[in-house]
Amino acid sequence: MTKQVDVAVIGAGAAGMMCAAVAGQRGKSVLLIDHAAKLAEKIRISGGGRCNFTNIDATPQNFLSQNPHFCKSALSRYTPQDFLALMKRYRIAYHEKHKGQLFCDDSAEDIISMLKAECALGNVAWRMPCSVKAVNKSDDLFRIETNTGEILASSVVIATGGLSIPKIGATDFAYRIAKQFDLKMVEPRPGLVPLTFDLASWEPFVPLAGIALPVEVETGVKKARGYFKEDLLFTHRGLSGPAILQISSFWEPGTPLIINLVPEVDIAKALIEGKSSSKKNLGNQLAQWLPSRLADEWLIVNGFKSDARVADMQDKQLRQLGASINRWNIIPNGSEGYRKAEVTLGGIDTRELSQQTMMTNKVPGLHFIGESVDVTGWLGGYNFQWAWASGVAAGQSV
Ligand code: FAD
Repeated sequence: MTKQVDVAVIGAGAAGMMCAAVAGQRGKSVLLIDHAAKLAEKIRISGGGRCNFTNIDATPQNFLSQNPHFCKSALSRYTPQDFLALMKRYRIAYHEKHKGQLFCDDSAEDIISMLKAECALGNVAWRMPCSVKAVNKSDDLFRIETNTGEILASSVVIATGGLSIPKIGATDFAYRIAKQFDLKMVEPRPGLVPLTFDLASWEPFVPLAGIALPVEVETGVKKARGYFKEDLLFTHRGLSGPAILQISSFWEPGTPLIINLVPEVDIAKALIEGKSSSKKNLGNQLAQWLPSRLADEWLIVNGFKSDARVADMQDKQLRQLGASINRWNIIPNGSEGYRKAEVTLGGIDTRELSQQTMMTNKVPGLHFIGESVDVTGWLGGYNFQWAWASGVAAGQSV
């Protein structure tokens, strides 16, 4: 049987539910469609089950896009404070963990229940699980063919996210719709993802898996430069931890990362200055600043003897050792891919969309929101803030 609505939102994740709720509460008839059997799985697993639902300090500078100005309008019209006001109405307790990152005290389920309740207030109708076979437009109506019947809609909002974590239902649906309607795309690639190194060069570091330490990491130049001061984690296959997830979104294949393993100390200077009074061997000296397993391995990898006395080393050697620690230059061979990536960079080219309404310029009535769009946040609650803000922008205009 054919159903007709004002707005069909495809994808009932963070952005889709927010958009449906806002449009519904404006009096629009809204149908929310998702192919998954379980609602909003990404919200559920986010932030270790507590959902880092926003970042109190979010600004447009925390987002990557070919057009860094695009996100400004939506982000300024729906701010972290607006989302907090909604949370307060539902009495959902939260706390700040680190650098403005806000998490639920109890569970990410609280956010899902809140969005469901907001949809109910807008009388949003649901179809899930429901597979969309085709979306076509004739005259002023979209015709959506699904395995549960045909839907006619005046507006369609695509909120099916990116490619990250296919195991929990990510698909390329948004990109296929973009192709069908001849919309430009920015090539998608995994973001906020652990980086890997070729097996042979990584072998000496494998025993260090599990070691974490605060570092500075940078890559790229000028406008494309990324810089973060966060924790780094050694893994069996490469590097992870917040520092690496953050920098991965800026990293271009074939280019190096520069990592300062001891940001607070100029190691060469400290070694040379302390040389005359030091009775320590190199391993013990470095263990003042680095985890001792890392210090020992570092010396071996860089051709130094762990038991060599600092006092016996030439200044040139200590400068070389210091540089290897304060400016570790290393080229990843790739990433752990969409299987582990928290987000997908790229997506629908923002030149195709209105920054006020998220509607495509070429196909009136067709909108894209959330992660499907070429706007990607840093690690730390920014991606949900974009999902909420872009969802509200579309919900207010459909
Ligand atoms: P999604 O939330 O991914 O929703 C897309 C929806 O579309 C899904 O329900 C999916 O089932 C549905 N769908 C997909 N294809 C189809 C199709 N063909 N037909 C019908 N429906 C379809 N961000 C933060 O800000 N803070 C965090 O703490 C955080 N933690 C994360 C942890 C993990 C492990 C991951 C993977 C991501 C995390 N993120 C976090 C990123 C954040 O989850 C996403 O950026 C955000 O969910 C994007 O919202 P969205 O609505 O665009 O897409």
